[in-house]
Amino acid sequence: MPNTTTLFQNTAAFAKQLDDIDDLKNYRNQFYIPQHNGNDMVYFTGNSLGLQPKITKSYIEQELNDWAKYGVEGHFLAQNPWLSYHELLTHKMAKVVGALPSETVMMNQLTVNLHLLMVSFYRPTPQRYKILCEAKAFPSDQYALQSQVKFHNFNVEDAIIEITPREGEHCINEVDIFEAIEKYKDELALIMIGGVNYFSGQVFDMKAITEAGHKAGAVVGFDLAHAAGNLDLQLHDWKVDFAAWCSYKYLNSGPGSVAGAFVHETHHKSTNLPLFAGWWGHDKKTRFLMDKTFVPIESAERWQLSNAPILSMAACHASLTIFNEVGMENLNKKSKQLTDYLQFVIDEINKQKNNCLQIITPLQNRGCQISIVANGYGKELYNKLIANGVIPDWREPNVIRCAPVPLYNSFLDVYRFGSVLSELL
Ligand SMILES: *Cc1c(COP(=O)(O)O)cnc(C)c1O
Repeated sequence: MPNTTTLFQNTAAFAKQLDDIDDLKNYRNQFYIPQHNGNDMVYFTGNSLGLQPKITKSYIEQELNDWAKYGVEGHFLAQNPWLSYHELLTHKMAKVVGALPSETVMMNQLTVNLHLLMVSFYRPTPQRYKILCEAKAFPSDQYALQSQVKFHNFNVEDAIIEITPREGEHCINEVDIFEAIEKYKDELALIMIGGVNYFSGQVFDMKAITEAGHKAGAVVGFDLAHAAGNLDLQLHDWKVDFAAWCSYKYLNSGPGSVAGAFVHETHHKSTNLPLFAGWWGHDKKTRFLMDKTFVPIESAERWQLSNAPILSMAACHASLTIFNEVGMENLNKKSKQLTDYLQFVIDEINKQKNNCLQIITPLQNRGCQISIVANGYGKELYNKLIANGVIPDWREPNVIRCAPVPLYNSFLDVYRFGSVLSELL
């Protein structure tokens, strides 16, 4: 496969050739691709809602059948007993994010998990209470941070330090993150950044940020909504304190499906962490003695509150099975080629169309997503793309986010995206 963009060609025949030699090409057949006028849509919104694997239905049906057959006894008698169902996901998920199984748990929803983890890991003191985050973080994250700050009776304006892109730039210069960590090192309680910025697609150097944060005496957590299943993550080795992510974006587990959480093993035995507790975080051996003293599990499972939502877990189980079969390394390799090809196609369009498309995603620090500013065009352009069977997503005022996903998108998808877009410009 060509590894320099100079060898690419903007033709359907060339794209098909790349698909022919793609080791992962058969995975596309394992997904339902939404249709437009009887043809596959060009689906570039796997960063928003991943597509449905064909095996998902049978995984959910298994649980529906066992529920029909056993009723409450399914907790013990189901083929995959519900009592420990979430453990089936733990090992698979841990591999995808580079964690130890004991550091990973699937539970709740993303924003819920962020809050539960901040209860333990945002512990401000009068001297050390600030949170460093990226400007224009996903709104839910901003609300979560603000409400945590207020909950501890601090002032939002004072306590939250936002790193913004420099004047005229779309991405954050990481130097500015490190300078801010140094500047606020005596007041910083927490660094909470998205591993990938949802808007620009910029990937942050999580390892270096974690190191710098720890050196400054701060706790470091990441929102990995746009990183889990997209990037090669090594949460354990990077010594990240905590992280949370959803499973419905790159992880293809269905709308609103169960989310993930990571807590580094260094915190598992800590006895002085504040925690909002529930029975599912209680020691498994004595959970059903129903005693009033909470005995925490010494793993990420300690943060569980409730028994598991089995039906959405089943969807997540199906998807993670595919991820483990493919492996993140192979996915990353293809992902890089897909985005390189997309970049090439856009450069070719620009040659014909007065450079009207500006890619704001960094060339190196990126995953599947490329964000394009369409200078001089409004949302009408997006509406026309949809009408032509191409589905990226649109962020006001003029950004098109495209995420060719290595599991089910093809090089031909990238070519088709370019040819439709070119016609509309
Ligand atoms: C998608 C996304 C969310 C969504 O939060 P939910 O709790 O799953 O609704 C939050 N934060 C980021 C960064 C996201 O990309």
